[in-house]
Amino acid sequence: MSPNESRPEEFPRAARKAFAGAVTSVAESPRCVCCRRPLSDPVSVSRGFGRVCFGRVRLDQHAAMVAVVRQRIDQLSMTVDVMDADQLESVNSALAHLLDALGVIA
Ligand SMILES: [Zn+2]
Repeated sequence: MSPNESRPEEFPRAARKAFAGAVTSVAESPRCVCCRRPLSDPVSVSRGFGRVCFGRVRLDQHAAMVAVVRQRIDQLSMTVDVMDADQLESVNSALAHLLDALGVIA
């Protein structure tokens, strides 16, 4: 008999049993929240991610930040034409400092 064929009154007991097993297994062996593989490295355990999944999450965060920065640069680029002299001077000075701080040769 498959689980789908079990009588309705049997489900709660089966669900409680499955839940108790899950809690026990989590307590006994931490798993990656992404792929559910067991974690043994203390750093990975504290992160909740294995090394591979943590690297992938960081790449996703990096890609999201690249998109945000590109959007800001586009916004700035589109407003340069309508800036007054003071605004242009402020933007020019800020960009010069930023490029210098980033080590970009202007
Ligand atoms: Zn993982």
